[in-house]
Amino acid sequence: MAPIHVLRCCQRGLAWIPVIFIALVVCWSYYAYVVELCIFTIQSIGEQVVYLFFFHLSFIMFVWSYWKTIFTKPSNPSKEFCLPKAEKERYEKEERPESQQDILWRAASNLPLYTRTGAGAIRYCDRCQVIKPDRCHHCSACDMCVLKMDHHCPWVNNCVGFSNYKFFILFLAYSLVYCLFIAATVLQYFIKFWTNELPDTHAKFHVLFLFFVAAMFCISILSLFSYHLWLVGKNRSTIEAFRAPVFRTGSDKNGFSLGFKKNIVQVFGDQKKYWLLPSLWTESG
Ligand SMILES: [Zn+2]
Ligand SMILES: [Zn+2]
Repeated sequence: MAPIHVLRCCQRGLAWIPVIFIALVVCWSYYAYVVELCIFTIQSIGEQVVYLFFFHLSFIMFVWSYWKTIFTKPSNPSKEFCLPKAEKERYEKEERPESQQDILWRAASNLPLYTRTGAGAIRYCDRCQVIKPDRCHHCSACDMCVLKMDHHCPWVNNCVGFSNYKFFILFLAYSLVYCLFIAATVLQYFIKFWTNELPDTHAKFHVLFLFFVAAMFCISILSLFSYHLWLVGKNRSTIEAFRAPVFRTGSDKNGFSLGFKKNIVQVFGDQKKYWLLPSLWTESG
């Protein structure tokens, strides 16, 4: 194998480290909550049943949405956005940028394109050799053009974009619910262990840490979650929030907004019953 391939394989392997870290923390939190808190610490059967039921509900939703965010492949531009073979050869041979733009303008004449580069040119990805659809960006980590790219997220080792943005929002929402539920139910036992009202067992270490970790994650996820809800309401991707898209008439940060309600529907789908489920919203997706 050529060294470049070995390097790429290593990079791909290392990229999973944050995901493995999160998975380990989640596995430990499951053990600490179910075994150390519910089985070893809580005495009341009623309390155990209620806690375990709601814990598992939030756990399943959290793991489901996390899984879908990680393993949903990013969408790429359809083949209509590739230059026809002859045009592509001409584009590659051509050295003058103006003539290259002429080729792109001709190829783009039948495509639904509203955005341009800052200089007013057709957006073209030299790496993927494709005319970039509106809101599409090239991700250097995935080495591909991603539709409605939001950002490349190392915690899910995937691009967050058109295909999985809903799953990503639900992942943030359910991880927040999971952490809030743990923090709220562990709090009284945390205080009891802290003030030595409960005996010094091995459960003490787990329960104390469980509260600290849940509270810490709550704070960081809450800020990210609120930011993304604001973006959904405005119909902006993270990339567009930092750099407004350029249209034929100039740059406009609200260029994609259809109004609050329609912006929500665009991400979550038009059927409200599927909004809270990390699954596709319609048959066509
Ligand atoms: Zn590309
Ligand atoms: Zn990416």
